[in-house]
Amino acid sequence: MNGPFDFAQENYPLAPATWYRVGGPARIALFPPSASDAVAAYHWMLSQPDRRLILGKGSNVLISDAGFPGIVLMTERLDKLDPLGADRYTVEAGLELDRLVRDVLLPNNYEGTGAWAGIPGSVGGAMFMNAGTVNGATCDFLESADLVTHDGLKTVPIDKTRCGYRQQSFCSGDDLILSGTFKFTHAQKDQRAVYNHYIQRRREKQPQGNCCGSVFKNPPGDHAGRLIQACGLKGARRGGAVISQTHANFIMNENDATFQDILDLINLCKTRVREKFGIELHEEVRIIQ
Ligand SMILES: Cc1cc2nc3c(=O)[nH]c(=O)nc-3n(C[C@H](O)[C@H](O)[C@H](O)COP(=O)(O)OP(=O)(O)OC[C@H]3O[C@@H](n4cnc5c(N)ncnc54)[C@H](O)[C@@H]3O)c2cc1C
Repeated sequence: MNGPFDFAQENYPLAPATWYRVGGPARIALFPPSASDAVAAYHWMLSQPDRRLILGKGSNVLISDAGFPGIVLMTERLDKLDPLGADRYTVEAGLELDRLVRDVLLPNNYEGTGAWAGIPGSVGGAMFMNAGTVNGATCDFLESADLVTHDGLKTVPIDKTRCGYRQQSFCSGDDLILSGTFKFTHAQKDQRAVYNHYIQRRREKQPQGNCCGSVFKNPPGDHAGRLIQACGLKGARRGGAVISQTHANFIMNENDATFQDILDLINLCKTRVREKFGIELHEEVRIIQ
């Protein structure tokens, strides 16, 4: 059953909804057009025996070719941006992060551009992953998060103790982030110049194509890319997947790669880095199978 929703689709192909362009269909995908519909959809999901998944822009997921045998809630239609005054904004989870940068940060010359420029996800995905760069991360600008949980709606204040490197503890893997309230500060430097600089840098230093960005988190004091490169793995291939020559922490879907092709390369990197350096690499990409 699709639930009592006209925004449900059965047997929905997930590969086109991900940056990897990999993954079979979801049994049911829900596209709630408003926050209240999203709350109803989430509660309906909880009432069903199926597995559940929330998807934003799909830029940090690797989904099995067998697909997802449960219900996926897609946040893409939740894209409201509400200025509250005094440099505060409530932003719905499905809004593209780059739109927040271009429509709010740049015109107001707010800090945050260096942390977010070029990250292709949604605001909700960025909150869940605490996405960012060496220049800062999403939680740095967050005042509170609006969540739908098993216990109902919650607004959770954000402080540094709840946020870490590409992780946070305010939202469990089974909660839905509906929106976040951000508080920005005016920057000294011209943020348009900062934006152009980091977009250009990404073009030069990162490969272009179907991928999830960095596959692994950087281990403390080191870089996953450096370790993988030192194992001689740049250019290693499995089927249609390849470890990028440009940046060894990027595994590209170059030629109709399967889930298993990419997973094999992930495991190859982990094994070789463990053998050579005694370091355990941890995936940043969320593997869904
Ligand atoms: C080319 C490229 C460059 C990248 N560069 C960076 C970078 O510099 N820094 C960085 O941090 N990341 C980077 N990434 C990774 C990715 O863009 C970020 O992690 C992004 O924040 C993921 O957002 P998303 O909407 O695509 O999330 P998805 O991939 O859709 O989901 C990722 C995870 O978040 C969960 N999630 C998503 N939305 C919600 C929600 N509303 N409520 C609850 N859970 C949710 C999903 O269930 C999943 O577990 C890059 C990716 C690519 C492809």
